[in-house]
Amino acid sequence: MLEDKTVVLGVTGSIAAYKAADIASKLTQAGARVEAVMTDSATRFITPMTLRSITRRPVVTSMWEMASEFSIEHVALAEAADVVVIAPATANIIAHLAGGMADDMLTCTVLATKAPVIIAPAMNDNMFNNPVTQENIEKLKARGFVFVAPGYGHLASGKTGVGRLADTEVIIGTIKQVLGRSGDLVGKRIVVTAGGTREPIDPVRYIGNRSSGRMGYALASAARDRGAEVKLITTVTCLPETVGIDVVAVDTAKEMERAVKGAAKDADALVMAAAVADYKPETTAKTKIKKESASLTLELVKTPDILAGAKGKFIKVGFAAESEDIVANARKKLKEKGLGLIVANDITDKDCGFGADTNKVTIIDKDGKVEDLPLMTKREVADKILDRVAGILTKKVLPSIKLKVVPSAPDYGFIFIPKKYRHLFPGYKERFSLSTDIGEITTYITGAHKGTPVGDPSGGNRIHYGLSSWYREHSELRVDARAVIVIKVIEPKKKYRLQIWEKE
Ligand code: C5P
Repeated sequence: MLEDKTVVLGVTGSIAAYKAADIASKLTQAGARVEAVMTDSATRFITPMTLRSITRRPVVTSMWEMASEFSIEHVALAEAADVVVIAPATANIIAHLAGGMADDMLTCTVLATKAPVIIAPAMNDNMFNNPVTQENIEKLKARGFVFVAPGYGHLASGKTGVGRLADTEVIIGTIKQVLGRSGDLVGKRIVVTAGGTREPIDPVRYIGNRSSGRMGYALASAARDRGAEVKLITTVTCLPETVGIDVVAVDTAKEMERAVKGAAKDADALVMAAAVADYKPETTAKTKIKKESASLTLELVKTPDILAGAKGKFIKVGFAAESEDIVANARKKLKEKGLGLIVANDITDKDCGFGADTNKVTIIDKDGKVEDLPLMTKREVADKILDRVAGILTKKVLPSIKLKVVPSAPDYGFIFIPKKYRHLFPGYKERFSLSTDIGEITTYITGAHKGTPVGDPSGGNRIHYGLSSWYREHSELRVDARAVIVIKVIEPKKKYRLQIWEKE
C-alpha cells in the first residue's frame, strides 16, 4: 500500500533523529518515495547524507539551496505529498506548527499541504508534559493532525519517563492507517478472527492446533489499510502490525463465539480465519492431571460452529482447510454455513500455508465462481479476499420494476414508471438501451407534454414518465393489458432489460 506513495519525512532536532533513518529505510523498502526534510538542528544529530543514501533522493535542508527539485518552489513538496510525517518531532516544531509559523522548509510544507500530517513527538518528559506543549498538541489534534504518542522508557537525559519516540513499526502502521482513509473499505466494519483456539484439559494442558494466526493478522491489517474499522478477535497476540486495530484476545471456541457475537452485531463483514477446535474436553480438570494410569481417555464434545451460528446482515467469509475434493467440500461448507465467500486450501499441498508467510488458495463465491490463486504472500491473499469483500459490499442492489401496460388506444399502450423509480431513468428524449428477448432496442422515457404524441393515459398535458416508443415502433413487443412487464435495471440511466409475461 506504500508503493508509489510520496511520504514527506520531516526530521527535527532530537536525539531520536537517528531513528528517522530506520523509518526512512523501512518506508523505502516498502516502495514509498521518501522525501526527507531536515530542520537545521536535525542536521546536527544525523547528516543529510545518511537520509540521502537510504532514500536515494535529495534531502531538503533549506529553502534557499538548490539541492532538491523541491527547493525551487517552496510549496512543491507540500503538493507532492500523500502524507507528511514528522518523526521525531520536538516541542519546538510542535509549537511552531500550532502557531502557524512558516520559517523553514518543514513548517512551510506543513502549512501548505493538503495531505494528512502525522506527528511523532520525542523529547524530555518534562517538556512533553509541560502544559504549553500539551496545549499545542491538543490544538493541532483539533485541526486534524494525527499524533503517535511517545512511549515510556529510558530518555536521553538518563531519566525514565514518557517522551521516547514511538517504535518504527507503530509510526509506519499509523502512516498506513492514515493513507487507508481513501481506501475502498472506508466506513465499513470488518471483524476478523485469527489463530487456533485452545480448549483446556486441565489448568496446564489444552487441545490446540498449528494455526499461527498470520492469515488473520494479514487480513486485519489489509482491511485497516483499506480504511475499514477493524476488530481482530484472536488467540495469538504476539504478532506485530496492529496499529489502529481493535484487538480482542480470546482462548477457547466459546470465548471466541461470545466475542464474535458481540462484534458482528453492527459489522459489514465477518472473516473467520481462525482455526476453531471442532471438539473440546467435556470437562476441564480443576487440578493438573497426574500421569499415574497407563492410559487416559478424554471425552470430547463438539464446540459451537461460530461461523454457521453468526446471523446478521454482514457478509460471512469462511476458510476451508481440505485434503480432498477441495472445491466440492468448500462449496458444501459455503452453503451449509450461509457464506458469501469461502477460501479453500489444500492441506496436502506443501504451499498450504500453515505457519508460513505464503499461502495458495482458491476463492469460491455464492454464485459458484471459482478463483484459483497462485502461491502468494498472506498479505497478497488477504487483499485478494478483501477485493471480493469490497466488491460485494459496494455492489448496488438494482431493482426489478414490475409493471402493467396501461392501454390507451386499441393498438397502443403506455408503460407508466412509478415516481419512486423515476430517478433511475434518463430525462425526456434521452435515449437508453433496452434489451429484450428478441434483441436490443433503444428508447426513451416520454412525457405527455402539450403536442407530444404519446399515450398519456389521462389524456392531459401533465408529464408522465413512461415507455411508449418501443410500443409503437416494435409491434412484435406489443402485449395486451393482461401482461406483466418487468424492467430490470442493469445500469441506471443507461441499460435495462425488459421481460414480458403473458398471464394465462
Ligand atoms: O467446518 P470447518 O471447520 O472446516 O469450517 C471452517 C470455517 O468455519 C473456518 O472459517 C472456521 O473459522 C469456521 N469454524 C467456526 N466454528 C467452528 C469450526 C469452524 O466458526 N466450530
